[in-house]
Amino acid sequence: MTDSPIDCKDFDTEGLVQFAESLGQSAFRGKQIMSWLYKPGIVSFDQMTDLAKSFRELLHKHATISFFSEPIIEQSQDGSIKFGFVLADSNIIESVLIPEEDRLTLCISSQVGCSMGCSFCGTAYLGFTRNLSPSEIVNQVVAVRDYLISNHLIDKVQKSEITNLVFMGMGEPLNNFDNLITAINILTDQKGLDIASRRITVSTCGIVHHMKKLGERTSINLAISLHAVDNQTRNLLMPINKKYPIEVLIEACKNYPMKKRKRIMIEYVMLDGVNDSLEEAHELARLLQAVPCKINLLTYNPTENLPYQGSSREKMIGFQNVLRQKHYSVFIRSSRGSDIAAACGQLAGKLRGGSYARQ
Ligand code: SAH
Repeated sequence: MTDSPIDCKDFDTEGLVQFAESLGQSAFRGKQIMSWLYKPGIVSFDQMTDLAKSFRELLHKHATISFFSEPIIEQSQDGSIKFGFVLADSNIIESVLIPEEDRLTLCISSQVGCSMGCSFCGTAYLGFTRNLSPSEIVNQVVAVRDYLISNHLIDKVQKSEITNLVFMGMGEPLNNFDNLITAINILTDQKGLDIASRRITVSTCGIVHHMKKLGERTSINLAISLHAVDNQTRNLLMPINKKYPIEVLIEACKNYPMKKRKRIMIEYVMLDGVNDSLEEAHELARLLQAVPCKINLLTYNPTENLPYQGSSREKMIGFQNVLRQKHYSVFIRSSRGSDIAAACGQLAGKLRGGSYARQ
């Protein structure tokens, strides 16, 4: 063990069991910690009343419990709420809570900045700073849940009332693979945050070498940011395409291990004159023929100094119709919280959100 205290929230149950054992304790004690850590309001080992006092003292010596305090909160006119969290090293990350009629979706970040360099995305221009630890990923959910509880927006006796979780904030989740898996284990653990896997979606620009492993190790939903149907256009929009061109990505989608009847979400941001012709809609239909999927057409959230405009509503509907005629489930998603994205950009040094609502 290292001298610096470990953060218990960096471990899933298996990790906590190993940690307890490294302190000469039984595996059961590790599980006991897990069943306390994510109860609302737990910030100290002293609150874990059924742990032996000697064990609590040992924990104080070797471990900590991190949490995010005092998020910077901005409310959008459309009801979505943006949370800015200042990390221990002063970096800032954001999460966006998106209320809809029948669900409450939280969009969370997986990295500080992003290294993928997508040319239409504001986060790309921040560059990459670092990966988030598992605790920094799950603490976004904990802090928003606690905010909802203390503002009486949800009932205290219920578990997390955040109904859906999407990894669509800052960062490329599959570039932070191990921490992502640990975080998903904590989020889905009944003793942890107890959010069903089917309510969690991880969005990736197509880090192909991690996709199969993700499907084997979790049963979360997968979303793929495709955004173009030919390699020339996708190379311009998404540099990752030079490493994993469209045909390789589509093959990985076909082979993605998932339960019967589950479908991959294909995301396609509609950029005026770039990827929004009817020919491209036909080509998209052809490409996805053997991929069990549904398609989200994203309205572009214009970003300062970037040379892109969103497609018109008419073009989006025409594009959607082509795909519908080919029997795809295809939805147009409008961006939520765009009015506060700019304000949040000021607080977080050009942060912006990409959160979508169903229509
Ligand atoms: N790195 C992950 C998560 C990114 S955010 C990924 O690439 O999938 C989620 C979605 O928002 C992605 O599909 C991303 O391409 C899209 N996006 C980024 N900037 C956008 C913008 N300005 N307007 C609309 N969608 C955007």
